[in-house]
Amino acid sequence: MSEHAKTPAAKGGGAKASKPGGQKGILEAKGITKVFGSGEIEIKVLKGVNMHLNGGELTLMMGPSGSGKTTLLSILGCILSPTGGELLINGSSTKGLGAEGLADLRRKQVGFVFQSYHLFPTLTAVENVMLALDVRGSGVDNAVAEAENALKSVGLAHRINAYPKKLSGGEKQRVAIARALAGSPSVILADEPTAALDSENGSAVMALLSEVAKDPRRAVLAVTHDHRTLSYADRIIHIEDGRIVDSHKTEHSATEGRKSHAVI
Ligand code: ADP
Ligand code: MG
Repeated sequence: MSEHAKTPAAKGGGAKASKPGGQKGILEAKGITKVFGSGEIEIKVLKGVNMHLNGGELTLMMGPSGSGKTTLLSILGCILSPTGGELLINGSSTKGLGAEGLADLRRKQVGFVFQSYHLFPTLTAVENVMLALDVRGSGVDNAVAEAENALKSVGLAHRINAYPKKLSGGEKQRVAIARALAGSPSVILADEPTAALDSENGSAVMALLSEVAKDPRRAVLAVTHDHRTLSYADRIIHIEDGRIVDSHKTEHSATEGRKSHAVI
């Protein structure tokens, strides 16, 4: 939590820093392009993406396979550099940052959740979360307590010492969410986090991401194909062929205190 207290306010005075409703703009993408390959095998995957993620909001992204969702998430999460355009995280531009600078920003500011969990099978739940804290550079002293708290916050207090093979798919994804949350990054990016889950577990994971997104210091973006998960969203973005073709707020995002979904 201390990291958030130190995080500078989004770009002082900029009209774009503060969105209607008072939420803080945590991430902003301006004219992002991405080209893979060169010459005759050049593929233009992103063709000028403008978007923002606000603190306290869950944004869901939908779009056909191959439309550039994973590529965009990788750029927003500082895993990939864009070919053109600019990314601002908490008001700081990533322009001109080399691989080291980007990796540093990613470690401090971004948590990822993947479809296939990406847990280490030989580590317990708490060890998986601690490993992420280690990567973020958190002190070893409080790593155990912090990892345990992260697992408690996703409803897994009773599974702290379980190995992944003993956990259900839904529980594994909750460990992955705890790992993403550990160290309090300000951006959580989830690439089809419910795709490997049945509808009950998928719903529970979306409910959890919706709860996670209530913290105004944090923005959450999840790629989904499942229309049933849309009720959890504050904002829905549609991407097609490398362009955002629609972005709108949902009804409940404007209402006072988003519809609360039980976290199990
Ligand atoms: P989505 O997640 O929406 O299915 P992706 O972002 O994974 O889409 O991919 C978008 C397009 O970019 C696809 O045509 C894919 O083949 C291509 N692509 C993705 N990564 C690479 C890469 N490293 N090299 C070349 N082409 C790539
Ligand atoms: Mg994808």
